[in-house]
Amino acid sequence: MASNDPQILIAGGGPVGLFAALLLGRQGLRVRLFDENAAPQADPRAATTHSATLELLGEAGLVEDMARVGLMAPLIQFWDRPSGELIAQFDHAVLKNDTAYPYAIQCEQFKTAQLILERLATMPNVEVLQSHRVIEAAQSADAVEIAVEGPEGRASHKGAYLIGADGGRSTVRHQCGIEFAGFTWPERFIVLTTPFDFAASRGYCPRSYFADPEEWCNCFKVSADGPPGLWRTVSPTNPALADEQLMSDDAVEARLQRFFPSRERYEVVHRNLYVTHQRVAARFRHGRVLLAGDAAHVNNPIGGMGLNGGLQDAANLAEKLGAVLREGASDRLLDLYNLQRRTVATDFVQEQSIANKKQLEERDPATRRRNLDELKRIADDPARARLFLLRSSLIAAQRRVAAMTLAEVQP
Ligand SMILES: Cc1cc2nc3c(=O)[nH]c(=O)nc-3n(C[C@H](O)[C@H](O)[C@H](O)COP(=O)(O)OP(=O)(O)OC[C@H]3O[C@@H](n4cnc5c(N)ncnc54)[C@H](O)[C@@H]3O)c2cc1C
Repeated sequence: MASNDPQILIAGGGPVGLFAALLLGRQGLRVRLFDENAAPQADPRAATTHSATLELLGEAGLVEDMARVGLMAPLIQFWDRPSGELIAQFDHAVLKNDTAYPYAIQCEQFKTAQLILERLATMPNVEVLQSHRVIEAAQSADAVEIAVEGPEGRASHKGAYLIGADGGRSTVRHQCGIEFAGFTWPERFIVLTTPFDFAASRGYCPRSYFADPEEWCNCFKVSADGPPGLWRTVSPTNPALADEQLMSDDAVEARLQRFFPSRERYEVVHRNLYVTHQRVAARFRHGRVLLAGDAAHVNNPIGGMGLNGGLQDAANLAEKLGAVLREGASDRLLDLYNLQRRTVATDFVQEQSIANKKQLEERDPATRRRNLDELKRIADDPARARLFLLRSSLIAAQRRVAAMTLAEVQP
């Protein structure tokens, strides 16, 4: 195996670990990344990439390629499913003076990961070791050391810092004994992917949300292998039902017909069930170990904030590690990372994603009507629509981060 005396070790080559490797590698730092899988996971998870994250991806030269392999999504729609009424439509164009990217891009996360991997392959200072599982992590005053199980057996690797970007079940977080407080939703979320064209037949835009007191739903378009693309529907499942009762051909057909009645039988190309949590790690820094992405925070996917937050962690952390390692800046910057990114996770992403879910599933008829009327009023008022989109696209969160300084870090 190549040995380039890495300065930074990264556990996890999902989009967050890979983006951190890219940003560190671009600064000339020596990086070694490990992923237990042989290639990026291709299951239908994140696609929506918000304006605030596109700004960071744009600096790394990724946005053009993401737009090429993904879909531009300037609109968000909110529908009342029982009545079929379009309640509100938001257009990111109102953010034209706030961001160079007044839209979201629907780019499946494995495509983003692949685009980053292609760039990493050209960087001699970054090693990507797939099929390598990090199993232990320890640290001393001036180094971190991890044990890794790979095709050639077990080996240990040393570096100055370790980034734990190894997903929600993070081994690194466990090894550091960091609590992952929060809760798990009783209902699992089912994702059904179909080529049925919801735009042509029903006028849905690529990011459409459906409020329903019985069973809410999200409907998203992704480009998949090219036109015409695929639509993913996300909805909650009854916790009392077993996998087979939820995933059989008849069950998925009945579910889609219930949501979107059609004379044709739906073609379902993928069906996936996800257990969904709302959790934030007690701290994102443990000495020389830093957590990022799902290893640090997990949330429900309504609003598409999990990966966005993770990519923002990666950019924030890469900049600070660069300052520490290249310019000899104080490592208190890493405490600022903890403060900034933990604040976003708790005050923006957890709060917003839970509120989004509550809004879609509200059962009380009066509260429901009030919520929907208010959403309509917000969408109809450009100043309020702008504030809504600043928050949903995470620009407001990034502005809050930029305003936080070392003075706010506890000594
Ligand atoms: C249905 C659904 C829809 C979603 N939609 C969106 C969306 O539109 N927008 C959004 O922002 N977010 C969305 N999310 C959330 C998003 O998928 C996650 O936030 C994202 O995958 C986090 O990326 P990550 O790199 O931190 O972790 P992961 O993608 O989980 O990657 C972790 C990596 O670590 C590797 N790994 C794990 N353990 C080890 C180990 N011990 N050693 C080595 N490697 C290891 C794994 O192989 C994996 O490659 C969605 C989630 C779901 C379930």
